[in-house]
Formats: sequence, structure tokens, C-alpha cells
Amino acid sequence: MLRRFRNVIRIGPVRVGTANDQRGRVKHTAVCTAPRCDFSADYDTRAAAELAARTHRCPVR
Ligand SMILES: [Zn+2]
Repeated sequence: MLRRFRNVIRIGPVRVGTANDQRGRVKHTAVCTAPRCDFSADYDTRAAAELAARTHRCPVR
């Protein structure tokens, strides 16, 4: 899922990576790696993606 991503960091269970989409635009994606958590979202800025990673709470207890 993060195969083309660069600058991948890990914040808790969430990974944040930067990539270019098919149109060449930069996007920033946060993906939770916890089992049974499907959280994944794209953001326009790195700061927004990292903030989402820091504030993410897995719905799985
Ligand atoms: Zn999660």
C-alpha cells in the first residue's frame, strides 16, 4: 500500500507517506497498520497527514 511512498514515518500504529498521484500532484497519506483497522486517508499537506496520524484512535478495542 505504501510501495511508492517516500519519507515514510511511523506515528504510533499509523504510517504517513508522501507520494505523487497519477496526475503528478503531491499527496500525503496516513495509513493505520493496526490489525482490523481500515483507516486510510489522503491529505493536501504533510502537516495535516501527520496531525491525523497523531490524533487517530483505532476503532478496534
Ligand atoms: Zn487505527
